[in-house]
Amino acid sequence: MNAEILSVGTELLMGQIANTDAQFLSRGLNELGVNVFYHTVVGDNPGRLQRQLRQAWERSDLIVTTGGLGPTEDDLTKEAVAEFLGLPMELHRPTLEAMERYFQGIGRAMTPNNEKQAYFPKGCLVLDNPNGTAPGCIVEQEGRIFVVLPGPPRELNPMFENHVRPYLLRRGDAKITSRILHIFGMGESEAAYRLQTLIERQDNPTLATYVGQGDVLLRVTARTAPDEDPEQLLAPMVRQIEALLGDVVISDDNETLPEVVVRLLSNQEKTLACAESCTGGLLSSMIVDVPGASDVLLEGAVTYSNEAKMRRLAVPEAVLAQHGAVSEACARAMAEGMRRTSGADFALATTGIAGPGGGTPDKPVGLIYAALASDSGVTVETYHLKRDRALNRRTTALNALDMLRRHLLQKQP
Ligand code: ATP
Repeated sequence: MNAEILSVGTELLMGQIANTDAQFLSRGLNELGVNVFYHTVVGDNPGRLQRQLRQAWERSDLIVTTGGLGPTEDDLTKEAVAEFLGLPMELHRPTLEAMERYFQGIGRAMTPNNEKQAYFPKGCLVLDNPNGTAPGCIVEQEGRIFVVLPGPPRELNPMFENHVRPYLLRRGDAKITSRILHIFGMGESEAAYRLQTLIERQDNPTLATYVGQGDVLLRVTARTAPDEDPEQLLAPMVRQIEALLGDVVISDDNETLPEVVVRLLSNQEKTLACAESCTGGLLSSMIVDVPGASDVLLEGAVTYSNEAKMRRLAVPEAVLAQHGAVSEACARAMAEGMRRTSGADFALATTGIAGPGGGTPDKPVGLIYAALASDSGVTVETYHLKRDRALNRRTTALNALDMLRRHLLQKQP
């Protein structure tokens, strides 16, 4: 079934509000196996609305309108759909009574223009709206389905979930379910290359790669009957991907790298502290973004100057004098010092030249060190990053987290 979403509202065209209804509906319809091919926005103008309805009729099986159901003159969607389909508007008594009760309840008189909201295209299915006064409706004609929904998301979302979704499921359409895998430490093109055979033969489930925020995402999507278990299709494909890519697959359940690390630490009842130079708190912040971080993160210190590295982390002055702050020796001393002074099971440290300035021939922009201290000693990794300052910092924080992830999984760094 092919669908389109026709949003009605001059506010949308003026840029006063974003069309979040269309986004919400597309996601919901996709999950139901309905292909959404168009999003259209039209203002509160009867002529243009008629033309859009005509176009939608010609190219879509399911047309979902949003907005324009209120009591005022320029709320005209329901009337326009009725006119387009050649249906008279009829009073729907239960809606009128519900509105009368609603106004009695709030102690206000119902004005005549509110009555307009109780009229619907003849023969439609009325969708009640416990969160507002404007019900929606569904009308079917010549194989097309028109679903007319109110604009406010707090009215539209429950109406979709409680009425439209069950309605479409009853019609027996397929269900779409996706699993998202996160890959860290391998670029999108290499991942796509290694998965080439799966990508070429894909049918059901399908497989697509995306660039995430410092990681690569793989979306595996299965199309099943509504009562069929999608895992039967998804799980074998996920296993094949893991076999082809190995331990760069950090999650098969849409977890980000910080989420994976917090989960592993928490499961193993271990704690972490961070000593940050070039990441400037970003590493700690990524961990704090994850609910449950308080169980695992003891502290984070932004030790940017040499003095701070000596005072807070007890980095020996000789290390700084001999090797400089951007060095393997300094990263090692930072991680060791943080682990010792914080009492955490693990300490991560970062130091490097994020750019754009500060590089030298010996130590160019993008030279970064990340260190992990644990009860088995200190490991330091060197990176030569080629991005801008913000991305270099982000990539550094993620690389440090990945060192810890691999350690926690007992894998080789
Ligand atoms: P009501 O029953 O409240 O009068 P309505 O169906 O007439 O609703 P509109 O008058 O078109 O809807 O819009 C009411 C409000 O709903 C807007 O001011 C806006 O806050 C929200 N809204 C409308 N359309 C959208 C949309 N496409 N995406 C997100 N929000 C929307």
